[in-house]
Amino acid sequence: MSVGADWAEAWIRRSAADIALNRAALNTLDRDIGDGDHGENMDRGFQAALPKLDELSDTATPADVFKVVATTLISTVGGAAGPLYGTAFLKAALSVVGQVELDGNGLATFLTAARDGIVLRGKAESGDKTMVDSWTPAVDAATAANAAGASTAEILRQAADAALAGAVATEPWVARKGRASYLGERAIGHRDPGAESTALLLRAAAEAAGQE
Ligand code: ADP
Ligand code: MG
Repeated sequence: MSVGADWAEAWIRRSAADIALNRAALNTLDRDIGDGDHGENMDRGFQAALPKLDELSDTATPADVFKVVATTLISTVGGAAGPLYGTAFLKAALSVVGQVELDGNGLATFLTAARDGIVLRGKAESGDKTMVDSWTPAVDAATAANAAGASTAEILRQAADAALAGAVATEPWVARKGRASYLGERAIGHRDPGAESTALLLRAAAEAAGQE
């Protein structure tokens, strides 16, 4: 089983809907340890991507979908998250360019490329209390599930579960990157908003695959 542009588009549409539903909750997480705009930033970016998805041709590939998301996020989302997620989708696109369908290797490849893009751009390490702490467990879980021969839907499910566990794990930590790092110990007890939005996005990816 593999996933194609229909899945990629369904993923982004579902992400946009889920982010809209969770806009206030993401803002609240960011209010606790940042400036309260993460839900707003993500919602603006994903809503702006929707009309651009409508313009894609019937022969679009997953990479074409990711590229549209990347350029939209980079141009419409202010703050740290726009360039970080924009780079993630851009690197994801480049890693699977020309592939009409993504199998397990394709999924592991693009998830790894997305995470590496975020690290390249933001220079955060695991444990710094950022979205990387959700992405890296997701990449590791997807890679392991693929190596074990899991289906594409199962690989994405494992990635989503690991991303959420990674986001939850940030709660007791002090932040070492981004606005939350200014708070020192006051960041303890709060989940990182970017790690939470990553978990939401990867859950939407799994759900979109489960629908096919
Ligand atoms: P801003 O902090 O500019 O208001 P957002 O609120 O949209 O931007 O995004 C904040 C999120 O961005 C954080 O919760 C964190 O996950 C992520 N983030 C911030 N800096 C970095 C970084 N250097 N590397 C990875 N992620 C980061
Ligand atoms: Mg913010």
